[in-house]
Amino acid sequence: MALLESTRNDVIEKDRRYVWHHISPYNDQVPPMVATEAKGSWVTDIDGNRYLDAMSGLWCVNVGYGREELAAAAYEQLKILPYFPLTQSHLPAIQLAEKLNEWLKGEYVIFFSNSGSDANEVAFKIARQYHQQKGQHSRYKFISRYRAYHGNSMGALAATGQAQRKYKYEPLGTGFLHVCPPDSYRRPDGVTVEEFNLQCAQAIENAIIWEGKETIAGVIMEPAITGGGVIVPHPVYMEKVQEICQKYGVLLIIDEVICGFGRTGKEFGHMHFGVKPDIVTMAKGLTSAYLPLSATAVRKEIYEAFKNSAEYSHFRHVNTFGGNPAACALAIKNLEIMEREGLIERARILGERLREEMMELLEHPLVGDIRSLGFLMGIELVESKKTKEPVSLETIGKIISACKKKGLIIGKNGDTVAGFNNVLTLSPPLSSTDEDLDFIVNTLKTVMRQF
Ligand code: PMP
Repeated sequence: MALLESTRNDVIEKDRRYVWHHISPYNDQVPPMVATEAKGSWVTDIDGNRYLDAMSGLWCVNVGYGREELAAAAYEQLKILPYFPLTQSHLPAIQLAEKLNEWLKGEYVIFFSNSGSDANEVAFKIARQYHQQKGQHSRYKFISRYRAYHGNSMGALAATGQAQRKYKYEPLGTGFLHVCPPDSYRRPDGVTVEEFNLQCAQAIENAIIWEGKETIAGVIMEPAITGGGVIVPHPVYMEKVQEICQKYGVLLIIDEVICGFGRTGKEFGHMHFGVKPDIVTMAKGLTSAYLPLSATAVRKEIYEAFKNSAEYSHFRHVNTFGGNPAACALAIKNLEIMEREGLIERARILGERLREEMMELLEHPLVGDIRSLGFLMGIELVESKKTKEPVSLETIGKIISACKKKGLIIGKNGDTVAGFNNVLTLSPPLSSTDEDLDFIVNTLKTVMRQF
């Protein structure tokens, strides 16, 4: 419902005065979008405009907006037991941890936190301590990829491979190394996709060897780099990475913060590649972002190293809110909805249709590459298909604004500092209807025709 003009202006003025927006430049000219309500894939703003949110917020509202069942699950739990610390336990945490084991198809012990960044920090600390428990005190380094994003805290940001997010806040946590991502679109001429992916995996082995194999604690990666521009590896890449990790006793940490919970058309993104991670981190889709909750799932054998060790060797990590009972109860209901409505399969089907529809955009002079995994897509825009020079920030900004004017919210990703902020991203709710998908496809195609 639209507000009166005077009330609206007051709200905008107060927002400018009091609310510090995340990662967005201060902009006095363009008023912020102030959302007031949302249902399904559609968000309404303070002026009563409706937008299809083809980014599910920040890649997170997997079951769509406006699920009363989720609100009820949290409300019921808040009435019974609103809080109890996970230094001990409570029923929703136990039930959720069991359910996550089903989704992970393996035996994992779950450490709950509040955000994706938290979940990755926990993974790094567990990995370092695990090696210590095993007597391997020099293993403290982590390898990740350029272009990847793993979070905003000092360790997770150190693992991140995007200069734009880091350079003003350095020095960050130490012991994080980066190697090239398997960006097949930008591989050298004359090299096949498979050969190039094997070379990228080999870069990890080389880093392990040259850094000293007894110094590496873990490798962290998303199944497909999402925020860095949707870079989907060839299956040989992940197979080889797993083989390298096993060869050198390095833990494989898979960041499923975006790729998890059906987004890629499977329970978790790594399941496309047949790898068996040592640690899986997750957040966002775990609660479809209705409440903050994240998890670090740790293979049972790793947990055993903590359980059976000396008295003072337990994992010394706690966070007050992690695994809040209401958030856990809501997550259980969220997973139940996904199962009941077959949203993992729905994501696969929607993703396939989106891909089929979008492929014709490859004819467009600005579209260099289209990459997807399930219901997650990146459209890489270039000035010239020959040189692959990225389009300017201005061009991509205009495309996004034109979509917004037509009622479609899409994203953009890459790295401004490195000069690659040229990938349009789509990650709509998995519950999107066929009509929602038509709207996304038609709007984006219409806008692209204008450029
Ligand atoms: N890992 C990945 C892959 C992410 O995309 C994000 C957030 N976009 C994070 C970690 C950090 O999650 P959060 O913002 O919840 O800290």
